[in-house]
Amino acid sequence: MKKSVLRALVLTLVCCQWVIPAPLRAAAERRMLVEVELRQAGDVNALQQLGLDIAGRVGPDRLQLIASADELAALRQAGWSVKVLETDLVSRFARTINTDGALDGYHTYAEMLAEMQQIAAAYPNLVKLVDIGDSWEKTQGLADRDIWALKISDQPEVDDPNKPDVLIMGCHHARELITVEIPLAIAAFLTQNHASDRAARALVNGREIWIVPMVNPDGHVYVETTDPMWRKNRNNNGFTVPLLQGVDINRNYGYMWGYDREGSSVLPMSEDYRGSGPFSEPETQAIRDLVEAHNFTFSLSYHSYGNYFLFPWDYHAEDTPDDAVFNLLGRIYSFWNGYVYGNVADGLMYVTNGDSDDWMYGEQTTKDKVFGVTVEVGDEFQPPSDQIPALVNENLTPALMMIAMAGWLMP
Ligand SMILES: [Zn+2]
Repeated sequence: MKKSVLRALVLTLVCCQWVIPAPLRAAAERRMLVEVELRQAGDVNALQQLGLDIAGRVGPDRLQLIASADELAALRQAGWSVKVLETDLVSRFARTINTDGALDGYHTYAEMLAEMQQIAAAYPNLVKLVDIGDSWEKTQGLADRDIWALKISDQPEVDDPNKPDVLIMGCHHARELITVEIPLAIAAFLTQNHASDRAARALVNGREIWIVPMVNPDGHVYVETTDPMWRKNRNNNGFTVPLLQGVDINRNYGYMWGYDREGSSVLPMSEDYRGSGPFSEPETQAIRDLVEAHNFTFSLSYHSYGNYFLFPWDYHAEDTPDDAVFNLLGRIYSFWNGYVYGNVADGLMYVTNGDSDDWMYGEQTTKDKVFGVTVEVGDEFQPPSDQIPALVNENLTPALMMIAMAGWLMP
């Protein structure tokens, strides 16, 4: 795209922000799901730098965005080929998922906690329920939400240095509802089958498996009650309007934090706002403190969407020295579900900085390296709940294989 056209688009977007009063704009925000056709290598970066809300990449030449009517008009005016896939995501959510104030087949924060408590109560010899930290709103006295983990092992009270720790996470991003369901299903499978299934027993007895289904409880509750397309945490950044609130906690980890302005944003209004400093948010602090206190070898962070298995580096288009290992993990994971595996250097994904995978792998001073990977589940943020079982099933066996591989990754 020509520079002059790009400038016009930036100008139009900037104008929109100033002409429309912020509260009105917030109400009209993030309504449509649109798909932009990518024509050349720099297109994703160009769209990223406009501060647009990127929903997911679909194949090599299409990028889906959550856009307001103004943003759609500006994109078209600037010459992008844009198709509208869904005209009103908020009312679609109300129609298909949030019909009774709950989340249909998806767990709310309260339901997730109840299920974790139930699993811990049913299998006290295999499971310990652990509060690993507070949400941002709890640190401010605004709510009472914690970040909860299930530690699953045959001696859950013992920290055995000979067993590799494995971390399975969901819901860094609030609106990605399916990412809570898969970690919960893994916990249920391992505990329910420990007595009867030799493979499940071997995993539980030979590993210390930490399941954190909801890294971002404040954001998730905000999706439940207020804005189904909310992505970040609920740090208010000192502002009263939602438009300027929230930190993208998957841009807030401390390795290569703020490396450039393509992979994260300095602007609070951006959906990929990196926060005021590395690990400024209590949610990322909780994960950091957990990982540094144990000997993790592998972590798997569920996001949606795109059907990808992604691994570092994420902050720039280079392979890590362990690229062969990451590719092997990807080959195993995708054997069951056909997810495409690779990294930024493979041209699969746009750059991001300050995310969990780069910190897991890259930070090797305060802890050993952890093979951190991200799985982007499915084709949309909030698929109708009758699709939950299939999406869980296509990820369950691959996740168990990853837990098995964690032993092989011991230093
Ligand atoms: Zn995500």
